[in-house]
Amino acid sequence: MSEKFVFKFAPNESEGSAGMKNTLGGKGANLAEMCNLGVPVPAGFTISTDVCTYYYANGRTYPASLEKEVAEALAFVEKHVGAGFGDNNNPLLVSVRSGSRASMPGMMDTILNLGLNDKTVEALIAQTGNKRFAYDAYRRFVAMYGDVVMGVKPKTETEHDPFEEVMEAVKHKRGIKNDLDMTWEDLKELVAAFKAIVRERAGRPFPEDPKEQLWGAIGAVFSSWMNDRAIVYRKMNSIPEAWGTAVNVQAMVFGNMGDDCATGVGFSRDSGTGEKRPNGEYLINAQGEDVVAGIRTPMQLTKADSLAWAKDHNVPENERAKNFPSLEEHMPEAFAQLMAIYQKLEDHYRDMQDLEFTIQKGKLYMLQTRNGKRTGFAAVRIAVDMVDEGIITPQEAVSRVEPEHLDHVLKPIFNPSAKKSAIKEGQLLGRGLPAGPGAAYGQVVFSASEAEQWVNAGKKSIILVRHETSPEDIKGMQIAQGVLTARGGMTSHAAVVGRQMGKVCVVGCAELDIEYSTRTMKLNGKAVKEGDWISLDGFTGEIIAGKVDTMQSTVQQALFGDYKPTDKNDIVYHYTKLMGWCNEFKKLGIRTNADRPQDAAVARTYGAQGIGLCRTEHMFFSGARIKAVREMILAETLEDRQKALAKLLPMQKEDFKGIFKAMDGFPVTVRTLDPPLHEFLPHEEHQIAEMAAELGVTPEKVAGKVKALTESNPMLGHRGCRLGIVYPEITEMQARAIMEAAVECSQEGINVFPEIMIPLVGFVSELKAQETVVRKTAESVFAEKGAKVDYLVGTMIELPRAALTADQIGTVAEFFSFGTNDLTQTTLGISRDDAGGFLKAYQDAKVVDNDPFQTLDQEGVGQLLKMARDKGRMARPNIKLGICGEHGGDPKSIEFCHKLGLNYVSCSPPRVPVAILAAAQSALKD
Ligand code: PEP
Ligand code: MG
Repeated sequence: MSEKFVFKFAPNESEGSAGMKNTLGGKGANLAEMCNLGVPVPAGFTISTDVCTYYYANGRTYPASLEKEVAEALAFVEKHVGAGFGDNNNPLLVSVRSGSRASMPGMMDTILNLGLNDKTVEALIAQTGNKRFAYDAYRRFVAMYGDVVMGVKPKTETEHDPFEEVMEAVKHKRGIKNDLDMTWEDLKELVAAFKAIVRERAGRPFPEDPKEQLWGAIGAVFSSWMNDRAIVYRKMNSIPEAWGTAVNVQAMVFGNMGDDCATGVGFSRDSGTGEKRPNGEYLINAQGEDVVAGIRTPMQLTKADSLAWAKDHNVPENERAKNFPSLEEHMPEAFAQLMAIYQKLEDHYRDMQDLEFTIQKGKLYMLQTRNGKRTGFAAVRIAVDMVDEGIITPQEAVSRVEPEHLDHVLKPIFNPSAKKSAIKEGQLLGRGLPAGPGAAYGQVVFSASEAEQWVNAGKKSIILVRHETSPEDIKGMQIAQGVLTARGGMTSHAAVVGRQMGKVCVVGCAELDIEYSTRTMKLNGKAVKEGDWISLDGFTGEIIAGKVDTMQSTVQQALFGDYKPTDKNDIVYHYTKLMGWCNEFKKLGIRTNADRPQDAAVARTYGAQGIGLCRTEHMFFSGARIKAVREMILAETLEDRQKALAKLLPMQKEDFKGIFKAMDGFPVTVRTLDPPLHEFLPHEEHQIAEMAAELGVTPEKVAGKVKALTESNPMLGHRGCRLGIVYPEITEMQARAIMEAAVECSQEGINVFPEIMIPLVGFVSELKAQETVVRKTAESVFAEKGAKVDYLVGTMIELPRAALTADQIGTVAEFFSFGTNDLTQTTLGISRDDAGGFLKAYQDAKVVDNDPFQTLDQEGVGQLLKMARDKGRMARPNIKLGICGEHGGDPKSIEFCHKLGLNYVSCSPPRVPVAILAAAQSALKD
């Protein structure tokens, strides 16, 4: 741990830099860096993340030297600002904000205007001659401090904020609607009323001493690292708890001293589409929190955006120019300076920037810059555009796009004719801001906890509707298909968080009238109740009653239909270019797990280069086949079984031909039968009425409990190759179907590369026995047909014994494919079928970091993979190695496979693009 805990910053005079994110957090490091670049930033200091670590390791106390360092840093700020902290004549006011290494928007706490009390407020009045401003700052401070430090918050989700409630009462009494219409007397009254609420709810008075205020705020920010929403957010974004947050203390500048003041946020490019178009929102005479909290509808920075906004909202030009002017029109000089800083910072960081600024009496101050969060569309477009503009390399572009971002651009859109007819029938309810692209429909719920209840009750599509979302809603947003809010702009919490999660998101629909108590919303005179269906268009902001059919994204239409991009503004252009680079950089082969020709074709279009696993048992479920399979299972004699198998042979053969054709030129790994036999048989109900009568409860209750406690333990019985060992005629039928299909396809001019894979092998003797059947059958097919094809025989490594004896198994197997689903369950002794019941609790209790069935347990199962790789290569230096468990589509596991030097990963068809990107990123890390 470093000895220095506090780092000062002011323009051209800072102790930190952008490279010190681990110590200063993202915000602190970027404030320091902006100062280094000479950008106007109010002076301040950052208390390092090491203090956070110390704080939690030492019973929420601070290192001994911290008090002295903070005092020195405060003196530095006082000198820069020319004011004294706690000085009754010339007070310094500060903000106290969190800032961890990774950005966590809105998850932790912030306090503004700290240093105000009954005396310093008088000085502020004397200095500014503006009573209204001073009392406005004071009432905001008391409410924020009361909430964040002293815990005065709404008690339930439906209760309003206690401070807001008092303010509404004051406005109501005075017959006004707008906050700006409150007089200084109103605001002074609010300060007193807020303090009374604090005393009553917190059981102690509001602290008047600025030093006490400061240490209270520092403690609250460090504590907010462990609040529920920060914990949920960290988990969702894999941010380690050990990182901790820094605390930034900075001189206040005011955007609310009058009409020559403003505050805003913005992006150097469009965070929704990625277009190269600086944009943002601001409010005149307001504090930053007003823009982000979404309480007032913000105005646009540029005139072009302002005109577009007015058009969308039917605001006539004279009204727009008077009441909703752009910053470009309202403060042209500050606007020009801001645009120059946008460019300077984007050039410096070589990435799209998300900026916060305040204009105090016409003077511009930058409060924050960071790499902007973006949709998948924007991520793909910005990465490719920046290569085209010569700013970054293709390698950097590939490294910057998060694997999950690709999912966004493959997201569905509304079927245009379904949407058109819904609108024609008058179903369009209204319009908000299109904050998160995509198309979604779902049943309306009005709170995060209801969203959870509905999803737990089996409802699949939910739209969460809120006045404005707060970080507490994050869980509900995570499980909803879409989010709709009445307030807030493109940078409100709902917009920022929804976008990042890839949710369809429409915000700031001012006409939307929501009544939580009756669980209804009204829009355009139409009422929508909880449970009613609505559809959200996240590209246009339209809100439509009922369910509107969705269809493929334009990228999907280009891949699978006849959509053709016309220019470089089309996401299809960016997607295609990015995937081209990925394919160039990756070293791993990407295959797919597919059992049907149509799935194989889809995967191939996405870029798969072969099939890594064709589960033949999946071919047995449909139609007439299930009957033949049941006959096979029930057969008592070899003869009966062969009869049943003879019925299956032609059907299997046709399937294989279809798959070979779809994968013309690429290898196809076909696994011999690995059936959980019971899945093919009907199930008997248990008799439970007796127990119910004995206990005096309803049979439904007992049935429910029985169901809840039922465990599906790993199917380790007569499965996998064990079936083929006991009934070799089954393997023989399958080998014949594969080989006949392969030879016939080859005769039709298709390039086939069959790889026959034996499942659940633990002993080399099992594999040897099955290999003998396969090769013997292949030879007879070749003799009958008078033609040959090359083929391989290999095995899955999905039992620990197989990994431990891979040197023996490798003498027979020409390839290994790691079946990490079974290998995980057999190594961990945790059933893959019902682990869900406790795995979440395991993750919450940090027993495990990830679900081991999703992300490979590298320390445990990974060791077996390593061992099998080494032993397999010892036996057969050119042995082909792949993975076909679900982990083959998980980016972290793909990186591990890359490091292991496997030949390929195989995943489900829709994950293929993500796997290709993850493989390329892994290769670029070498
Ligand atoms: C595995 O076990 O990882 C595997 C791919 O086989 P299955 O999921 O069919 O058991
Ligand atoms: Mg398996």
